[in-house]
Amino acid sequence: IVIGMISGILLGFALQKLMPNGSDFLVPLGFFDISIRNLFVDGIFEVGGQIFVASLKMLVVPLVFVSLICGTCSLKDTSKLGRIGGKAIGLYLITTAIAISFAMSLAMVLSPGEGVNMANSSTFVAKEAPSLAQVLIQMFPSNPFAAFAQGNMLQVIIFALLFGIAIALSGQAGERIASLFEDLNVVVMRLVTILMNLAPYGVFCLLAGLFTDLDIGTIKNLGMYFGVVFFALIIHATVSYSVILKLLTGLNPIIFIKKMRDAILFAFSTASSNATIPVTMETATKKMGVNNSIASFTVPLGATINMDGTAIMQGVATVFIAQVFNVDLSISDFLTVILTATLASIGTAGVPGVGLIMLAMVLEQVGLPVEGIAMIIGVDRLLDMTRTAVNVTGDCMVTTVVGKSENQLDIATFNDENAGQKIE
Ligand code: ASP
Repeated sequence: IVIGMISGILLGFALQKLMPNGSDFLVPLGFFDISIRNLFVDGIFEVGGQIFVASLKMLVVPLVFVSLICGTCSLKDTSKLGRIGGKAIGLYLITTAIAISFAMSLAMVLSPGEGVNMANSSTFVAKEAPSLAQVLIQMFPSNPFAAFAQGNMLQVIIFALLFGIAIALSGQAGERIASLFEDLNVVVMRLVTILMNLAPYGVFCLLAGLFTDLDIGTIKNLGMYFGVVFFALIIHATVSYSVILKLLTGLNPIIFIKKMRDAILFAFSTASSNATIPVTMETATKKMGVNNSIASFTVPLGATINMDGTAIMQGVATVFIAQVFNVDLSISDFLTVILTATLASIGTAGVPGVGLIMLAMVLEQVGLPVEGIAMIIGVDRLLDMTRTAVNVTGDCMVTTVVGKSENQLDIATFNDENAGQKIE
């Protein structure tokens, strides 16, 4: 996968040199010309990359549904669910609030928006932020099949939890169904490992396509904004997570970060924490040693409600846009941003680019011009990839903490450098 990633990036840059600014390069064959753009960027990279992402997404709903039911049944005492959910949600919200507070403070100190002119006048229309009541109501599916079809994670989670609880309480009939789900779980996990074999090629295609058309000029123009977001993401993923993990579990954070490598690569290439769920789950269970009864619940939950990386981008972007438009943010604006960004992350699925839509909600809350988003949209893709990697690292960190606190983490597996390395 690493080879796929590096060669994809290098080939992308090489093709960018050959075809700058979205141009094409024609290889004359005498009777007709071959378009390098059609053949590679719109052809091989697009097809290979999209098939890879689709195959990951295909796994998400069956995997979450089946493994969460197995997890709930195997808990025996289903009243534990409330405690596990409470811990996970609490940690997810706290880490997001820490991330955004840190990002805003850093942006205040480094002032990425000072001296930047509002040159881009294109518009960006904000969606209205859903109220907390709406978010809560929408968590409950009126039709579970519609939830499956739309891939609505929170609804799938709620249905699977209730179904699992009912199985656990249904005596012999429940035991028969539970063993059916255990078998299904083995089969779905096998499907995950089979499709993981596509990963090196998929990562290669996605990154080669992206880097061919990466707009380096815009990144340079917004260098300070880009740099502050990037720096804050790296510090949060390495320092904040390490401190929290060490303080709450005593586990070695270096081992944790090393074991996150595959999930980080997947998140980086797909820019979607949802699509990365299968890999995050494998990482949490097989590499970190967290029991499936915890990970099957906390990982998909985290992919939906926990977006620390996204919150960091929103924090820096809000300060940046305020500085560009010469608006002073008050303390109450700060608190509003922290609260809105944290709550907005609950109801929003982890898919590419969704962070900007959430940012629009945040800007509206503090009365900043939503058009400001048009300025940063050009550099968002690379930041989206990076913050998604942070988002999934956060999901796995909280899963590890909850697993350890519930005595559902196998320390020997966590400490074993080679655990879960092999993709069969
Ligand atoms: N792409 C991010 C994710 O899936 C969300 C975002 O920041 O846009 O986690």
